[in-house]
Amino acid sequence: MARVLFKAGLIFDGLSPELIADRSILVDGGVISSVSETTPDGPFDQVIDLKGQTLLPGFIDAHFHAYAVDTDFVRLEAMPATYLSHRGAALMTATLRRGFTTVRDVGGADYGLWRAIEEGWVAGPRLFYCGRAFSQTGGHGDARHPGQADEPCGCNSRAVLAEVLDGPDALRRAAREALRQGAHHLKMFLSGGISSPTDPIWASQFADEEIAAVVDEATRRRAYVAAHAYGSESIARAVRLGVRSIEHANLIDSEAAAIVAQHEAYVVPTLAIYDSLWRSGRTNGAPDFLMSKLEDVRSRGLQAIEICRAANVSLGFGTDLLGELHEDQLEEFRLRSQVETPIQVLTAATSTNAAILQMAGKIGCIAPGAFGDFVVVDGNPLEDLSVLHRKPSGITAVWKGGRRVDGVGQQE
Ligand SMILES: [Zn+2]
Repeated sequence: MARVLFKAGLIFDGLSPELIADRSILVDGGVISSVSETTPDGPFDQVIDLKGQTLLPGFIDAHFHAYAVDTDFVRLEAMPATYLSHRGAALMTATLRRGFTTVRDVGGADYGLWRAIEEGWVAGPRLFYCGRAFSQTGGHGDARHPGQADEPCGCNSRAVLAEVLDGPDALRRAAREALRQGAHHLKMFLSGGISSPTDPIWASQFADEEIAAVVDEATRRRAYVAAHAYGSESIARAVRLGVRSIEHANLIDSEAAAIVAQHEAYVVPTLAIYDSLWRSGRTNGAPDFLMSKLEDVRSRGLQAIEICRAANVSLGFGTDLLGELHEDQLEEFRLRSQVETPIQVLTAATSTNAAILQMAGKIGCIAPGAFGDFVVVDGNPLEDLSVLHRKPSGITAVWKGGRRVDGVGQQE
């Protein structure tokens, strides 16, 4: 197994609030074996000199959809599975080159994509997946317009990102099936959403016993439930029923934030998708219902982060991008830095996300025992986060498992 020595100038280790200077990091067989002030004993297969640059843990995107390769869900649903898998693979490679060495997919990605990456057929981030997200009839995952009466059958539906299920028994069975297929977590839609045609944003979706059934199955498998939820009512209900990761949360108030903090649950804000859709949506021919719902949540995203910070909610970092908008993935750093310090944003994208993924100590940090997943940046992101999101980005190299990623910095 290859031994690679990194002679780092400045390090953000994912955990400390300040940069650490002048350390030697030895990666042996893809895993960090030491972080020291002195150079460990050789021989080394490779020595990487990073003086004048900053070394960070590889970033984690905790709200990602590998198969959301098109902004238009009608086009997406019409794609043959073989075509979709190639497109998803290309999207994963581009994501890795942007510095995201891990993604948590919250609707769509499956065992096949995970295996192709693990075996090295596809260059992509470490993938944590749930299969398809669970939606109730008429919920955020039900793409039918009011005039459509055909059944969205769970078994042979063409749904890529979500499946429609009703009743605790159906949900329990779907949860067991997802976990059998290797799901790392389960995902439920617990409030209305912007891309679905019949549900208002405020709608609190699924009955308590349906949510409890999924939480029970996840918990006994030592996994957990992530839930799409915008408003305080659905957020508070979700965490009280044992949901551990609240996605988006744009309309959260301080009372609901206090309940999230009390239950030691997490919130994963996703600002990039709203901003990116808003800037591109009208020209892309997005439907009117989507644009009007979009403004309701987009305008509240930053305020929600401030409310959560004030209530001591642990905040993760996600993007939720679709199709060509994935190019805006690093924009999440810019958007977040409007209301958070660089250290808060970087901690969210590294060690806090690692904790959400139940992978603390393995990813999102630079410490012995963690994977050799790194981002190398020209400049000091703790002083100026724009080194990440400016164009071209100051990211000069990405490493995953002690191997340098090809094609970093290439124009998309
Ligand atoms: Zn999403």
